[in-house]
Amino acid sequence: MFDSLRQIIQDVNDASDLKQALNIIVQRTREVMRVDAVSVYFRDENTNQLVLMATNGLNQPAIGKIRFDQGQGLVGLVLDRAEPLNIKDAHEHPNYHFVSETGEISFHGFLGVPIIQNRHVLGVLVARRTEKRRFSASGETLLLTLAAQLAGAISYAAKMGELNSLLDGVGGNSFNMKGLSGSSGVAIGEAVIVFPPANLDAVPDNTILEDEVGEQVNAFFEAVNKVENEFKELSLRMEGAISKEELALFDVYALMLKSDSLIDATVNRINAGQWAQGSLRETIAEHVKQFDAMEDAYLRERAVDIKDLGRRILMHLQAQQTSTQEISRPVVLVGEEVTVSQLAEVPLQHLVAIVSTRGSSLSHVAILSHALGIPAVMGLDNLPVNRIKGQQVVVDGYSGEIYVKPSQTILDEFHRLIREEKALDAELKELIDEPSETLDGVHIPLHVNTGLLSDISPSLQSGAEGVGLYRTEIPFLMCDGFPGEDEQAQTYQQVLQCFSPRPVIFRTLDIGGDKALPYFPVVEDNPFLGWRGIRIMLDHPEIFLTQIRAILKVNIYDNNLRLMLPMISDVGEVDEAIGLIRKAYKELTDEGMDIPYPVIGLMIEVPSAVYQMDALARRVDFFSVGSNDLTQYLLAVDRNNKQVAELYNCLHPSVLKSIQQVVNIAHKYNKPVSVCGEMAGDPASALVLVGLGVDSLSMSVGSLLRVKLAIRSFTQKQITSLFMYH
Ligand code: PEP
Ligand code: MG
Repeated sequence: MFDSLRQIIQDVNDASDLKQALNIIVQRTREVMRVDAVSVYFRDENTNQLVLMATNGLNQPAIGKIRFDQGQGLVGLVLDRAEPLNIKDAHEHPNYHFVSETGEISFHGFLGVPIIQNRHVLGVLVARRTEKRRFSASGETLLLTLAAQLAGAISYAAKMGELNSLLDGVGGNSFNMKGLSGSSGVAIGEAVIVFPPANLDAVPDNTILEDEVGEQVNAFFEAVNKVENEFKELSLRMEGAISKEELALFDVYALMLKSDSLIDATVNRINAGQWAQGSLRETIAEHVKQFDAMEDAYLRERAVDIKDLGRRILMHLQAQQTSTQEISRPVVLVGEEVTVSQLAEVPLQHLVAIVSTRGSSLSHVAILSHALGIPAVMGLDNLPVNRIKGQQVVVDGYSGEIYVKPSQTILDEFHRLIREEKALDAELKELIDEPSETLDGVHIPLHVNTGLLSDISPSLQSGAEGVGLYRTEIPFLMCDGFPGEDEQAQTYQQVLQCFSPRPVIFRTLDIGGDKALPYFPVVEDNPFLGWRGIRIMLDHPEIFLTQIRAILKVNIYDNNLRLMLPMISDVGEVDEAIGLIRKAYKELTDEGMDIPYPVIGLMIEVPSAVYQMDALARRVDFFSVGSNDLTQYLLAVDRNNKQVAELYNCLHPSVLKSIQQVVNIAHKYNKPVSVCGEMAGDPASALVLVGLGVDSLSMSVGSLLRVKLAIRSFTQKQITSLFMYH
């Protein structure tokens, strides 16, 4: 038996595809076990039904047609219980569900085992026989071992997209996938794939003669010029829709396009006898390799931009014209690597969502989706993109999930959600001028998180009482070198002026971790535990001082400026940073500026800071809990890692207990506490935070009125008694 099992496993491993593997399993298992039928059912994730995928012994036409709901029939029972079921006579079991198509009327003995991977039931493997007899222990062992083997093959096939096509083949043509939330909201639209038609990787080598060199060089320059014009047009089209910094990206592309490293390297290759397309391919590949090798996520994204440039040039070299797609219906933009320039190719009024197989919530496209108020799902790395083209797609930006060719039930559910969101938005608009108060009049100021100038007007229109977190690294990400004092001051001044007299909390540069500047690469094995935030700033006082000066000097509007330091893990860092702030302040006042000394606060986002709250509270004026990082560091769960996403829980007792401690100690010193991590924007979590005694909340603009509604629905006492943490 052991030998037969090993042989089956060997044969399955040698199978060319999943379908063949399944047929081998059902046929060989039937032979080895000497039973009358062996069948495999897969779970269709979209409908949660078990679908008959392969059988040896039951009627073949039943494949794909037989479907069991969870708990339905004996097969559904195995799925439900996630454990083997071995019974003498299926017909006598209360869960028996007769289906005529399989021709199983004469089968009695039933053995079903679940196929499980990572605690998730992927399907059920079933052996049947006509005899009324339980299966032996060795039969159970064999089937269990095969099911475990099959689990690996199925998840691999799922990753490669093969599972979906197999389900497609049997009529289960819809599927869903989970990535990362890039921007919240829900939308339904038709998938438009934004693949540049030109494929650099497919360009072959082609040696040219000496007298063809000139012609090839000219063709190359012509293509480069066309791309440059294209960028100008795209940039014009996006004007008004996105902020100046985002528009500036097109200038960055134009600079890359004209850079010596791109032009000279390609021309040199042409001169050496390679045709323009092949030369371009080599040059781009060389650049991409350098960027791809970088561990830093932001820099890897720059590789995407270079590839995009390369494809655009190639497209013109291949004499293909790009044209804005003729689109007049709701569109979900889907791409392996959606870039900002591709985003600009779809008429914005029809763009309802973005799905990108790469990137995270920090990618430019995610940030732009936020600004455009549309949902985005990022990092769907196994998305079978070509199967999605032209299909209807539901995008759930809250959970980071998409549903392709959704079933009517899913569609109805999301249409209902969209209707509800619209109705809620209309209802919420009425709250704009209402105070953010509990039913018994306790005021909980609601602030916005931002870093984009384009967020200013929606933020003001939302009734926000100020900016609780201005992420200064976002404008830095849009530049191609550290911006100088005056350039920074201009941006900060606009924000302060627009929000005046409302407070604006500028967080000093929080780079490192997964937010690296393209022009300041930091390569580390463990970036989140490495050179991040205040640590970099203290090591580079020249960068820190420039920023502090730029911020302090524009504090000329009702003293509405607040300064906040990120990633504080030690009291010494605060003392050092305050020393530098004092230095900058003295320099500016010595230069004759009449500006107030700033109100200074800290982010509490590293567990060690929670335990130094007394010492910290004696040094600064306010605190803001960065629950995104605090959760990641307390629970040892990478906030961007999909693999452990289920362990990431900002409502974990340890997180709540830490926040409670921060609030208690801060209040002892009469210092206010805000929360500016994502949890503050979730209405239920926001109530928990209010229950914990947090004084104000800061969130992305889209969440503000929802949280206000939640706060206005309860009394302080109700919230405290409902959510008090013991
Ligand atoms: C946080 O960590 O909760 C936070 C607000 O900062 P960021 O998400 O920018 O790291
Ligand atoms: Mg943080």
